[in-house]
Amino acid sequence: MCQGSVPEYFQFKAAPPPAPERMFNSRFLEQTPTEVVGRSTPKEEQVAVTTVDGSSEYRVAAHAPCPIIDAHVHIFPQKLMDAVWSFFDNYYWPVRYKPQYQASRADFLIQQGIRHVVLLIYAHRDGISRGLNAFMAQTVRDMNHRYGGRPISSSSSSSFSSPNGLRPPARQRVATGLGTVMPGEPGAVEILTEAFTVHKLAGIKMHSHVQCVAANDPSMDEVYATCIRFDKCCLIHAGKEPNSAAYKVDADKICDASIVEDVLQRYPTLKICVPHLGMNQYQEFCDLLDRYPNLYLDTTMTLGAFFKMQEPAEQVSEMFRNLLTRHADRILYGTDWPNLPYDWCRELANLVSVVDGDGLLIHDNMEKDGPVAPSMNAERGTNRTVESDRALEKILWRNAARFYGISEADLGLGSDLPAAHL
Ligand SMILES: [Zn+2]
Repeated sequence: MCQGSVPEYFQFKAAPPPAPERMFNSRFLEQTPTEVVGRSTPKEEQVAVTTVDGSSEYRVAAHAPCPIIDAHVHIFPQKLMDAVWSFFDNYYWPVRYKPQYQASRADFLIQQGIRHVVLLIYAHRDGISRGLNAFMAQTVRDMNHRYGGRPISSSSSSSFSSPNGLRPPARQRVATGLGTVMPGEPGAVEILTEAFTVHKLAGIKMHSHVQCVAANDPSMDEVYATCIRFDKCCLIHAGKEPNSAAYKVDADKICDASIVEDVLQRYPTLKICVPHLGMNQYQEFCDLLDRYPNLYLDTTMTLGAFFKMQEPAEQVSEMFRNLLTRHADRILYGTDWPNLPYDWCRELANLVSVVDGDGLLIHDNMEKDGPVAPSMNAERGTNRTVESDRALEKILWRNAARFYGISEADLGLGSDLPAAHL
């Protein structure tokens, strides 16, 4: 059984070396132009090209085959984000996108051509959820106000959203927010109700490692019941990795695929998503997808090839390809931005490459052989099929749109959408 990442406490790990030129060569990406000749770029569409390590920044290609929803993006009020960053900087990895976050929060991803972001926030103690949910709602409103109704810039529109040279349609919303609650805190149901009704948040983000609560803990029952009552989603970090000895609880003990299965059995109508493809129990979570139609997984950081792997790269790449194509209806693309040690597009490039059937995932073990380079066993795109293209579209936007209630109008997709893609 291929399990991918190594099941052990994560040790602090330096960022990967800067990506060489053309490293993320992909039909979905282009390197950030310093200047686009003949096109005046609106101020808010201008892209920050500075990177911490001096590598080139990428953005979604002008003719990327479909729009992209990043279904896993973190925001916090700055004081809390600073605390999160200091945890990462001490125990996980250096956070790469601090300056961009401080400059404009998740607007950065929209400026890089991501069509829509799903924003997450989570409480680590009682008494702060209401404030965090209000902060989330305000951030979502502000972003949607800034971008809503504006045509999508030519460099971030998809090939089928502006047919025949017509003016690209305007997108209505660029952000969807999930709320938070501390399991078992006084007034938890009221807090959730307020998040869903007053703040119009699309679901809830729970975090077993940080909140020190197993997914099947009795205190979670009212959370699930309220999600079901309002037909909202629950995104819960209930996989074991990445674990850290710095957590107040041993995530290895309170997280397991069998614990998630207990929830799935008891709540067959709950829409539940587990991030990181269930790292490091990929096979077990893949089996759960087979048996539970209400389970979804997001890809966050699994395809960034940053974590130590125990199997050969060929086996890991094959495992991911099987998982992604077999369950293309219930896997969502996400990045974990801004708390990443590497380029935000590294995972996107790998995801496209793996689903296209191009070759191996960029693998950290390759570093010992010199600069990291994708190991390709085929010319890019030559193994693509109609099915693999459809799988990619589902993973990159359709599944997130369905799961979180993001409409085609929200995304600026007109009725011009080819029927074959539906
Ligand atoms: Zn995350």
